[in-house]
Amino acid sequence: MTQPVRESTRVVVVGAGPAGLTVATLLQGAGVPCTVLEQRSRARVLQRQRAGIVETRAVRMFQEYGLADRVLGGAPSNGVLEIRTEGERRFLRSDAGVDGPAPSLCPQQVLVGNLIQEFTDRGGDLRFEASEVSLAGLAGPRPTVGYRDPSGTAYEISCEFVAGCDGDHGVSRASVPEGELTAYPFDHGIAWLTVLADVPPPQHPLLAVNSRGYAAHFARGPRTSRFYLQCPPGTRTEDWPDDRVWEQVRARLGDKELVAGPITEKEVFSLRSVVHEPMSYGRLYLVGDAAHVVSPMGGKGMNLALYDAEVFARAVRDFTARGDMSGLDAYSPTCLHRTWNYQEFSRWMTEMLHDAGDDSRTGPFRRRLARARLDRLFSSPPAAAAFAELMAGFG
Ligand SMILES: Cc1cc2nc3c(=O)[nH]c(=O)nc-3n(C[C@H](O)[C@H](O)[C@H](O)COP(=O)(O)OP(=O)(O)OC[C@H]3O[C@@H](n4cnc5c(N)ncnc54)[C@H](O)[C@@H]3O)c2cc1C
Repeated sequence: MTQPVRESTRVVVVGAGPAGLTVATLLQGAGVPCTVLEQRSRARVLQRQRAGIVETRAVRMFQEYGLADRVLGGAPSNGVLEIRTEGERRFLRSDAGVDGPAPSLCPQQVLVGNLIQEFTDRGGDLRFEASEVSLAGLAGPRPTVGYRDPSGTAYEISCEFVAGCDGDHGVSRASVPEGELTAYPFDHGIAWLTVLADVPPPQHPLLAVNSRGYAAHFARGPRTSRFYLQCPPGTRTEDWPDDRVWEQVRARLGDKELVAGPITEKEVFSLRSVVHEPMSYGRLYLVGDAAHVVSPMGGKGMNLALYDAEVFARAVRDFTARGDMSGLDAYSPTCLHRTWNYQEFSRWMTEMLHDAGDDSRTGPFRRRLARARLDRLFSSPPAAAAFAELMAGFG
């Protein structure tokens, strides 16, 4: 059998999503050699449209590393969030009392594209279409990561650290021996139909509470919008022909005039969350969705991935400069602290905005509680400030 091509580097990053590319770009800036392995093609990676807002904390992070101008492609947000209850419009300043830059309306695929450009323009080693990625020796001092390139040639890269940035279904977490990690999964019991359409975005991010179910309308580009519609678990996309989508969007948003446009993507998914503890095993560090999934309510998944990435890259930089392991030892507890804080925020918002509308799941008492919670954001400046602090990624 042909021997694999053997190589060596300091860090192998598995996965080129927001987490992996941020790790790689920050390591590159610190002069730490790394290789990124991505199973998909460049074109596929650039197509993946998900998150739409980079929170204040992450904007500041990119500014501090001198990257903000190059990697954040979107316009700054004006901080206003619209919450429409049964058609009644109310506006919340999601930056009330926040001391920091405006969040950036930068779609995930734009951030990913810009990070790829930044990393590769500066000579970064990013290998697309890496198949059969496998991790070995994670508990020892020099793990190895194997893969095949598109021509079928096998490689084995020896390294000091592996950054597992390959999402919830990747190979990194699956390589940890059974019993070393504990999973804390949670099913919110809610599904969303998500629709991407060529429709002008709303003036402000729009969340709608409605007795027919929750709905939302967000910008995903100058002429593109993402809509979310709450639907019962088990619903299929076939149950939602385009006419039904637009009829429900208009009814739930309370906007009869909303102009429909071509739908380019339609998907139903269940709102679920999970945290895997600890976020490291030996010399493997799980970063982003590989370690935790946050339900999309509150827009925290990608932002949490960016946070983990910075904590990891900083720790590796300190180890490289001074042999200081303290940052790597603290990686998991540091990131888990923020993870649980964001999970709580996302769950709190999920309950409030769903229960306040359709009471068929939770009953009229919970509906009134949720409305009281929601109203407090508009009547109590400290409540609004606490909300804004979490939206910004502080606290
Ligand atoms: C519909 C939807 C809407 C969302 N909306 C928001 C939002 O508004 N705000 C927000 O902050 N977050 C949102 N999220 C969450 C956000 O998209 C994720 O949290 C984010 O993508 C996590 O980044 P990541 O780099 O950790 O993982 P991913 O983006 O999943 O990237 C992982 C990468 O690893 C690669 N990979 C996988 N397996 C392997 C392997 N074996 N070998 C090599 N490479 C591999 C994948 O191809 C991928 O490129 C949303 C998610 C969904 C599904």
